[in-house]
Amino acid sequence: MGNRPRHETRSGDGGFGERKDCSACNHPAGPLNALYLEHVESLVRKMHEFVDLYRCRECGTAYIGISFDAYDDFWAYWVMVSAPEIVALREFESRSDKFWAAVDLVKGKGRHIISPPNGPLEMVDGQASVCAGLAPW
Ligand SMILES: [Zn+2]
Repeated sequence: MGNRPRHETRSGDGGFGERKDCSACNHPAGPLNALYLEHVESLVRKMHEFVDLYRCRECGTAYIGISFDAYDDFWAYWVMVSAPEIVALREFESRSDKFWAAVDLVKGKGRHIISPPNGPLEMVDGQASVCAGLAPW
């Protein structure tokens, strides 16, 4: 006896923590030597469009990453997201709706990480102009 059922304490956010004092998440704007995020889960895998869930290796804060191939140029963006934002994103049924909802999430944030086709991985303070890299399909 004494065997209690083990409960996962996940509540839809994947158990992510959030620490405002994280030196990785608070990296100053400018080039990043490497992505400090680890891949957690794929949410969308299409031929040209990808949405993935990541978390900070230092503090566990959740990030959403979108990446897409626009005329053979590969762009990627990452933004910090909250647990409710992840839950809302999961509720979209179609991969296409999920992708565009993720694009809206990225465009709605200020601070983001960008990996442009021919540029350095960079932390940017300011809204992502995702459309610059999006093909009109
Ligand atoms: Zn962090």
